[in-house]
Amino acid sequence: MAAEKEYMSLEEVADAMGVTYQLIYRLVRAGELPAARLGKLYRVSRSDLANYLNRSKREATEGGTCANCGTFYLSKGALQQACQKCGAPVCFDCWTRRGVRLCREHGGEG
Ligand SMILES: [Zn+2]
Ligand SMILES: [Zn+2]
Repeated sequence: MAAEKEYMSLEEVADAMGVTYQLIYRLVRAGELPAARLGKLYRVSRSDLANYLNRSKREATEGGTCANCGTFYLSKGALQQACQKCGAPVCFDCWTRRGVRLCREHGGEG
C-alpha cells in the first residue's frame, strides 16, 4: 500500500512523475519542491507534491521557448523580454547577460 504513505522518497516521487531522480533532487535543492531532510534522505509529503504539481502545471501553460537560444522555460517569468522586431519571447539570460534584443531569425545571437 505504498500509495497510502504520507511521505515519499525522491525515488518514489520521480517514479510517480515519470522523471529522473536527478530532476527531483534538483527541484528540492532549488527550493522548488519542499522536502524534509531526514539524515541523508529527503522526504516529500503528498500535499507538498500535489501543490508543486498544480503550480508547475499552471506555469507550464504559461511557459515558453526563448526565440533566440531555444531554451525552454517552465515559467514565463524567465521570458519577460521580447524581440524588438517581432515580439517573440527572449529569455533573461540572453537579454541581460548577452545583450540580445532580437530573436535568432532577426539577428539575435544563438
Ligand atoms: Zn535565450
Ligand atoms: Zn524577431
